Amino acid sequence: MKEIPYYLPLQEAIDLSLKHKLSSLAEYVPLDEAHQRILAEDLHSTVNDPPFDNSAMDGFAVRYEDTQQAPSTLQIIATSQAAAGNQDLTLSSGQAVRIMTGAPVPEGADAIIPIEACNVEGNQVTLNQPSKPHFIRKCGENIAEGQVGLEKGCYLTPQSISMCATMGHSTIPVVQRLKIGIISTGDELKSPGEELSYGEIYESNSYGLSGLVKMLGHIPIRYPAVHDSLEALREQFDIAAEECDLFLTSGGVSMGEWDFVRKLMETEGKLVFWRVKIRPGSPPLFGHWKGTPMFGLPGNPVSSHVVFRMLVVPYLRGSLQTSYPHDRIVHARLNTDVRSTKDCLTLRRVTLTSTDEGFIADQPKHQGSGNIDSLSSADGLTLLQPGQSGESGELIQVLLL
Ligand code: AMP
Ligand code: MG
Repeated sequence: MKEIPYYLPLQEAIDLSLKHKLSSLAEYVPLDEAHQRILAEDLHSTVNDPPFDNSAMDGFAVRYEDTQQAPSTLQIIATSQAAAGNQDLTLSSGQAVRIMTGAPVPEGADAIIPIEACNVEGNQVTLNQPSKPHFIRKCGENIAEGQVGLEKGCYLTPQSISMCATMGHSTIPVVQRLKIGIISTGDELKSPGEELSYGEIYESNSYGLSGLVKMLGHIPIRYPAVHDSLEALREQFDIAAEECDLFLTSGGVSMGEWDFVRKLMETEGKLVFWRVKIRPGSPPLFGHWKGTPMFGLPGNPVSSHVVFRMLVVPYLRGSLQTSYPHDRIVHARLNTDVRSTKDCLTLRRVTLTSTDEGFIADQPKHQGSGNIDSLSSADGLTLLQPGQSGESGELIQVLLL
């Protein structure tokens, strides 16, 4: 077998995986379905926002120079309501126009007096305070027609969906969702709800991985768990390679006799690298099966999750040219000793407490990579660099989960 890159620093592994990018296609979806999708092209505004000068308050549109002294009394000549603006309305000296929030500001007006500062009697209004030349939202002050409001690769949050609508778009170009296969491997695995015999455990990785895939806006295809046999794996890999853009396996990638995923990839697949300098989660591999990229994740539940976040997430980000999901990293002071390693990036599970002096990181649960409770109860993963001490009191970086 030809030598394959082995036991790489995390960044080298990511870079190598990205030499085998997935191709991404765009599709148009109605605005209503664009939430949580990734924008496939820059989105320009079709209009000025706002499209006309309008009032930011309910009150009276006035001429600033008429109203610098208080009190001053003006003649009410008309009303300007939202969507019922009178384009020909012009305000002269001594006049005021009753105006609603969002309604067009009449020609000649350059200030709005809020209703709370006025007394109205018949068609006269007395302003009890001097005006300030504001409360007018200027045409195009938010975004100008033709300007890029959202950039290609951005993740469409509720607020960016509103932005799309404001810019006048009813259909949105988004990156097509990827189909990502998930294959658990191991003779000992039973589905939750089934009866366990001696030596068996509940299969949990595929459910967590499926959640991660959904969180990124893609489509998980969770296959039934596969036994530890080359034949069974080969058959399932063929199906996944046919049906999916990418597939993930869990288990069977370490050095043991029963680690058939690794054996199969070494002998019949195209292995790109094996093992990465992160702890937990050092055994993963990446390669191709019949032209479809695949990640072989470790079987330990914490490791499979951590490797997804550290390796699969950057691969998807790089392939789809998006910065989503951003790595949210905070600084925290360790409240207990955390075991680091000499040559690996160490990702311990910590809880965070916000204090006046910043975040405090604790490690209340035992850190076995089989202990999923240590992950499900954690707020973040320590980013301890190789050789960093991890002693109580140290200021460290924590990647939020
Ligand atoms: P392996 O990488 O196959 O040697 O598995 C390492 C450990 O993770 C073993 O204790 C397995 O029983 C456990 N494991 C493997 N796959 C899963 C899974 N899908 N769900 C839960 N635990 C698993
Ligand atoms: Mg196994």
